[in-house]
Amino acid sequence: MMKRTFTRTRRDILRGGALGAGALLADRAGLTTKAFAADNAPEIIMDGHVHITNRIYWEGIDPWTPTKQGWDFARARAAGVNCIVDNLGPYGYWSYNYTPKQFLRLMDTLLRFSDKHSDKMAIALSPDDARRIVGSGRMAVFIGCESGFDHEGDADVLDAFYRLGLRSVQFTTQSGFNSYSDSALAPFQGGEKPDHFHGINDQGRKLVTQMNSLGILIDVAHATEAAQNQLIQASRAPVVASHETIKAVAGAGLSDDVVKALAAKGGLVGIHGGAAVVSKRYRQWMASNPEGAKNASKAVFGMLSYHPSVTRPPGDHGEFIARMDNEFREKWKELAEWKEDPSAVLPTMDEYIAQIEYVIKLVGADHVAIGLDMVNGRTSIPADPTGYTDLIAAIRKLTTPENARKILGENWMRVFGQAKAA
Ligand SMILES: [Zn+2]
Repeated sequence: MMKRTFTRTRRDILRGGALGAGALLADRAGLTTKAFAADNAPEIIMDGHVHITNRIYWEGIDPWTPTKQGWDFARARAAGVNCIVDNLGPYGYWSYNYTPKQFLRLMDTLLRFSDKHSDKMAIALSPDDARRIVGSGRMAVFIGCESGFDHEGDADVLDAFYRLGLRSVQFTTQSGFNSYSDSALAPFQGGEKPDHFHGINDQGRKLVTQMNSLGILIDVAHATEAAQNQLIQASRAPVVASHETIKAVAGAGLSDDVVKALAAKGGLVGIHGGAAVVSKRYRQWMASNPEGAKNASKAVFGMLSYHPSVTRPPGDHGEFIARMDNEFREKWKELAEWKEDPSAVLPTMDEYIAQIEYVIKLVGADHVAIGLDMVNGRTSIPADPTGYTDLIAAIRKLTTPENARKILGENWMRVFGQAKAA
């Protein structure tokens, strides 16, 4: 796509697998000589479900410069966030299994971007890395994936992505079932049935074992409840639901049973900020405003449920993906240009905090965290990254300082630290 000028980044990361990549990455910015005593280390403030590389790839933006709509590094950092999981999302590229190719394009985009801005950010391969990076005043970025790394679930492909820095995998494909797991959103976003395997299959169980032995955190978001329960059971390490709400509070999201099972395994739920997910009032407004409701899901679902307009012909020599890229870029553009219906009932911080409060009461403060999934194309709470300031303050107001520290970042750090369970 562009001239390859940052190949050293990837080699460094690969070498880092044996040498301690955090130290190596930090060394390149000349920052390891600073010692960080544990008692004056900065508090980790972490959002465990961000999508920013997709924006860099499709919009060509530099998110260290504040943008008008959606998530960016500049505003998130200014509002106190110092650590994220960036979920690379291949989405519509599951057609004909272009997923690994699209994932590689996004991975390369993030690694080059991180290298270019190494004074402000670095890739974290472990919680120790993240603490060093944050201690040096920079943003730590864990690499995750949403909607699958490979529709066919190839073990070698997973291993290769781990070596490039992948540390968290949303097991299910967003908009259809893959070769190893069902998808809860399949009927709405891809027109497929949600119970093809009635959970995960034997290949899925093998992938769980491989992720446990590599140290890849398993994300059950968008899996069916059967698949969620089977993943929690199959994994030897804690698993997460990176961006979800609680059904008992929001009317949509995880059942109490799943939250309890997640917690019993040491995992967590990251609370989603999307209005249509977190807010009963917003969904009531949608129910009484069909046009508003259509508008509310148009841009995001249009992108997520994209299918190529033509069938890939036999003997194709690249013409098909060129066409697919053009079509998908158009869908992405609709996200950037989306506007909320002026009559919409906006979600409140109280509605967000109520989810956290409920999880604390149900299973304790070790099992809840932030996973906003803030993207262009839909209304959310906070409305934009400047709102992290209010969110952080509201969490501190809700509970004890020790609980707040966990919810704001330490719970995410713990589960990444426990992801390797051979
Ligand atoms: Zn999602």
